[in-house]
Amino acid sequence: MKKKIAIIGAGIAGLTLANLLKKNTDHEFMVYEREESLSLEEGYGIQLATNSIKILNQINFNKINNEKIFHPKTIDFYNIQNKKICDLNLSKFNSHEAKYTTLQRSTLIEFLKEDIYTQHLRFGKKMKEVSELKDKVLIKFDDNTNDLVDFVIAADGIFSNTRSFFETKKNEPRFKKAIAARVILKSKSEFDINEDNISLMLGSNSHIVLYPINKKKELNMVCIMRCKKYEPDNVKQLIQEIILKQNSKFKNIFENEIKTWPLYFTPKIIPSTNKKVFYIGDAFNGFLPTLAQGAGQSIESAFEIFNLLTKGKLDKENNYFEIRSKRAKIIRNRSNFNFFAFHLSSKIMQNIRNLFLKFLVKREFFVKTYLGKVYKN
Ligand SMILES: Cc1cc2nc3c(=O)[nH]c(=O)nc-3n(C[C@H](O)[C@H](O)[C@H](O)COP(=O)(O)OP(=O)(O)OC[C@H]3O[C@@H](n4cnc5c(N)ncnc54)[C@H](O)[C@@H]3O)c2cc1C
Repeated sequence: MKKKIAIIGAGIAGLTLANLLKKNTDHEFMVYEREESLSLEEGYGIQLATNSIKILNQINFNKINNEKIFHPKTIDFYNIQNKKICDLNLSKFNSHEAKYTTLQRSTLIEFLKEDIYTQHLRFGKKMKEVSELKDKVLIKFDDNTNDLVDFVIAADGIFSNTRSFFETKKNEPRFKKAIAARVILKSKSEFDINEDNISLMLGSNSHIVLYPINKKKELNMVCIMRCKKYEPDNVKQLIQEIILKQNSKFKNIFENEIKTWPLYFTPKIIPSTNKKVFYIGDAFNGFLPTLAQGAGQSIESAFEIFNLLTKGKLDKENNYFEIRSKRAKIIRNRSNFNFFAFHLSSKIMQNIRNLFLKFLVKREFFVKTYLGKVYKN
């Protein structure tokens, strides 16, 4: 039966669900975005593994302009002195249709907005009040418009405000005591790396990730640094104390325009208490970026809701929370472990980690279990 759906938030999760519904169903839906426009500034790069590419291909991602994406085949591990430790072949998880892909977040958002922009996206919409009427949910927005829907899908990010309207239990995101600093590089600059690959440099209390985001081989560089407090005005000093102290050769790289933000994660996975309300993407659970699966999981969770809707199972017999939380725990455990292993500060521990890394990346069974389970291969 045809349903009416309100999707709250036009990030990767909300827009993916909107595209899946638009292309495959006749359900009525609207995406309500709080901001006045989509954030299309260059933004940071995104890595999408095969688990999310397979889903995106169902909405024609395989037809995206090939110049705007890249398919790295390998992760090269280095120490922060830029000395190579080992490499991991990523292409073993690729198929002809679905390849590990890197691109700019704005490229993905542009693609996702194309088919729904005029008819299914409303800006400047902030929820003011919700109530239940018979079997439906009435949402009132603060511009005095409203919508009566069968389902509310909250895709409003890690600080989900929708939760506060429907849940009594809070699930406050926690600051991980780390920040991310991002620079877009036109070339590999001072780095001695292969710019066709993903480069991961492991330092004390820090790591740097670099990867190409298009065929021009512009590189996205994200540097994660542990720190007690997020002080945007002190970032240069932090970079000096954490990164440049370990490798002064990188000085010029950080002369570029830097964007920074604090890293948050959600400590608990809490189910929805309302049968008409579902959380997807970061609103379901926010991960650390150390497995590069946040966007991938946003896409997967949107796909799970879409599947339940098409099977007419979202209002009954749905096992969304059970399946999603099981999956989220796998991703969370690996992201958390990587965060710990990438940032070891003791030299002895770093050496032991590097020995393990060299050994494990060549072990088919380990790689298939650790990453294959995530990439669903
Ligand atoms: C440093 C860093 C690197 C990352 N790298 C990767 C990577 O390589 N690969 C990867 O897969 N993931 C990565 N991620 C994570 C990924 O970007 C996020 O997990 C993903 O974008 C979450 O998508 P979302 O749609 O759930 O939420 P968001 O992108 O946060 O979107 C939420 C949307 O809802 C809107 N909104 C908020 N509140 C309201 C409201 N009350 N009403 C209406 N609208 C609202 C917001 O304006 C926004 O448009 C990274 C994250 C970080 C921090």
